[in-house]
Amino acid sequence: MAQSIPLADLQAQYQVIGEEIDAAIRRVISKSSFILGPEVANFEQAFAAYCGAEHCAGVSSGTAALELALRAMGVGTGDEVITVAHTFIATAEAISAVGATPVFVDVDPHSYNLAPEAFAEAINARTRAVMPVHLYGQPADMTRINRIAREHGIRVIEDAAQAHGATWQGRRAGVLGDAACFSFYPGKNLGAYGDAGAVVTNQAEIVEQVRLLRNHGRRAKYLHEQIGFGERLDALQAAILGAKLPHLDDWIEARNRLAARYTSLLADLELELPQVAEEARHAWHLYVVRTPRRDEMLEHLHQHGIGAGVHYPIPLHLQPAYAELGYRKGDLPMTETVADTCLSLPLYPEMTEEQQDRVVQCIAEFVGQPERAA
Ligand SMILES: *Cc1c(COP(=O)(O)O)cnc(C)c1O
Repeated sequence: MAQSIPLADLQAQYQVIGEEIDAAIRRVISKSSFILGPEVANFEQAFAAYCGAEHCAGVSSGTAALELALRAMGVGTGDEVITVAHTFIATAEAISAVGATPVFVDVDPHSYNLAPEAFAEAINARTRAVMPVHLYGQPADMTRINRIAREHGIRVIEDAAQAHGATWQGRRAGVLGDAACFSFYPGKNLGAYGDAGAVVTNQAEIVEQVRLLRNHGRRAKYLHEQIGFGERLDALQAAILGAKLPHLDDWIEARNRLAARYTSLLADLELELPQVAEEARHAWHLYVVRTPRRDEMLEHLHQHGIGAGVHYPIPLHLQPAYAELGYRKGDLPMTETVADTCLSLPLYPEMTEEQQDRVVQCIAEFVGQPERAA
């Protein structure tokens, strides 16, 4: 059988930039400076500049970034934060962790991102913030979301965990709201070699507060101004991220080229292909198609050694963890349809056209098959 094709391939990336990574790791170890210090500060500066933002605070994960950004804005008990159910659970967990309540609204049928009109309808006196997710690497409709939020005095926190380098009207994820939260989980478009994350913002009060909270509420060594957390960005991870950052634009370019190629090769098949909004440059963290025969197609691809995935099969409003919020099946129809039909195809910058052709051929074989009797 031909070599299998993974959903993403971190080995292939290391084969290209391994020496730069190894040098960065050796530099940190030779100085024994593992906590905060210049490695973290340098990466923060570089990543803020990359996003076109004033400030960046490195933290221990994307989840920590979301939680600390909410805390830095004073969101807490009794508050509601509007977000989507079609996302990774960390989006909502961060809201719950600060004592607030996530309010799930439906997604747009084209982008699968937060539907601005659904957001507007869900606003009440308790609403403190909205947390749009730039899912799969495409920014949500930030023009309309920001307009609605401004009208109601609501804070906007981007969950940009999948959207490093994506733009909306020419501005990068990171400067599209009050604050943006990034994950550098290894498989993300910019990935560390472990857990890492960052809060990016143009507002000095927010970044200052995140810096305090991530480091036990202290400015001086044993003077604690607030009760904080141990959620710092590790210096080793910062050095690795700093070595990778100069490559990010090339990787996003490669992802765009491969995504465009998927779209043209799959155009005639009976599949719902991803749509990109006119205002957006997609970062293509994932290339997601939809088909009512999703589970069968997934099985077919796996049988042929192709690592397709599902992001995400159970929307958050129907997760056992959120049962107490009282949502029911049918509450978020578009979200539920997407969850039942979405399928993520292999996509990573080093993917060859030959590999991509095999994925397409395998899908074409499947779509050509008659539907199995239920
Ligand atoms: C990965 C991810 C997170 C969480 O990031 P971690 O670094 O794994 O904590 C949050 N939101 C979304 C949309 C993600 O994809």
